Amino acid sequence: MGNSFGSLLLFGATGDLSQRMLLPSLYGLHADGLVPPDLAIFGTARSPHDDDSFRKLAAEALEKFVPADRLNDAAVASFLPRLRYVPVDVTKDEDFARLADAVRPVAADKGLAIFLSTAPDFFAPTIAGLKGAGLTGDKVRLALEKPLGHSLASSREVNDAVLDAFTEEQTFRIDHYLGKETVQNLLVLRFGNLMFEPLWNNKGVDYVQITIGETVGLEGRAGYYDGSGALRDMVQNHMLQLLAIVAMEPPARFDATAIRNEKVKVLTALRPIVASARDDTVTGQYSAGVAGGTGAPGYLDELGHASDTETFVAIRAHVDNWRWAGVPFYLRTGKRLPVRTSEIVIQFKGVPHSIFKDRGGRLHRNRLVIKLQPEELIRMLVMAKVPGLDREGIDLREVPLDLSLTSAFAASRRRIAYERLLLDLLEGDPTLFVRRDEVEAQWQWIDGIRKGWAMNQVTPKAYPAGTWGPAAAIALTERDGVHWND
Ligand code: NAP
Repeated sequence: MGNSFGSLLLFGATGDLSQRMLLPSLYGLHADGLVPPDLAIFGTARSPHDDDSFRKLAAEALEKFVPADRLNDAAVASFLPRLRYVPVDVTKDEDFARLADAVRPVAADKGLAIFLSTAPDFFAPTIAGLKGAGLTGDKVRLALEKPLGHSLASSREVNDAVLDAFTEEQTFRIDHYLGKETVQNLLVLRFGNLMFEPLWNNKGVDYVQITIGETVGLEGRAGYYDGSGALRDMVQNHMLQLLAIVAMEPPARFDATAIRNEKVKVLTALRPIVASARDDTVTGQYSAGVAGGTGAPGYLDELGHASDTETFVAIRAHVDNWRWAGVPFYLRTGKRLPVRTSEIVIQFKGVPHSIFKDRGGRLHRNRLVIKLQPEELIRMLVMAKVPGLDREGIDLREVPLDLSLTSAFAASRRRIAYERLLLDLLEGDPTLFVRRDEVEAQWQWIDGIRKGWAMNQVTPKAYPAGTWGPAAAIALTERDGVHWND
């Protein structure tokens, strides 16, 4: 913790993300003695709290969102006094002067990490307010939540506003998927084992599938979601980061520059989907159906007005480089799908020649499944013979070699992704944060798809809540002789 900053300023401290994730994560780090002993945490938002009422709000959030076996009275009692609160409306310059008066005496020596957990429209005024109040400088770092803009142009505006007050090295763009243990394990799987790398290319891999399924609908986030849609809410950030990690070349070192250099090469090698948007993408919007065993309303009923926003998208993508030429990357994400899941499937090619077919043995091709949620699991499907005398032919079956990270490392506590990210922010390690050129490459590709949808008048097709999207999503892969891994 040599380089660790000793104060944190959290914008949006009364919001949903703070209560569900950030305060519980800070508590978790505190309870394990991982943050500097004198870490001061300033919460801010418009609500007129004082230190006491904010601590009460935080205590309620911990009670609600920290698992009971982790909630320890003594740790809560020593955590809450770290919290202070300064009311700030980020649209009012004068509020920043008050904020600076409270924060500067504490932060001046300790270094200040600032976390923006507000709507992105507030990022630019917040940064201007921080700059005006002198809350910038060498000993300050800035973390920003997604979404970073809603297009390449608007993300450049946000990034330019950031650059006006902070250097790229001081800027920590969050994609919380990078804080997930299994995502980091994907790097170890690929680059800590010899056996995958020789096959990890268009000679060994037939296709890749990445699915992020949500069972929930709008959950009170209608305003944000209807202006975004599945493509911008999920594909632009989490899915493209997963794709980049699956497809990247081996970096020379495990450091921020080497890893991000390799990811950005993949993102800029994505084949643009503009004119082909009708062929290479499918969009959907859920109608009424059954989700989680009960009736679920359709998107428009939840929303209360007409909308063309997609709640589902499936994409056939290509990474145009030597390693991946000809290998489709199928991406699929949506709301009100049958299960909550995040998974990556690497489908390997078949053996060049089967010696078993004359004995009636049928081979399946190897498949590697990396599950990120709900459970963390790496599963390799390999061929094995069913025990027996094989009098009527050899019986071959696919069997899973499972690495359940939860049971293999039962003694290690599963951490919230934000615990890792907040600690890295305090310690100044940007490896698991997204660099500006990555975000912009992601937006460039996404903007192309949206342009293609507009040019081709692509509008979402209805799918009943609780199903895997419109039938066209199945046809998207079946054209290539591929089934989704449901
Ligand atoms: P939220 O519940 O709406 O919270 C917004 C926060 O901003 C509140 O603390 C609000 O407090 C504060 N705020 C609003 N207007 C303000 C103003 N003028 N000046 C100062 N503070 C103001 O939103 P959220 O769900 O926590 O999301 C925060 C950010 O994280 C968003 O960018 C969101 O897209 C992103 N995000 C959220 C999630 C999630 O699961 N919630 C997941 C990923 C990313 P007051 O009303 O007291 O001012």
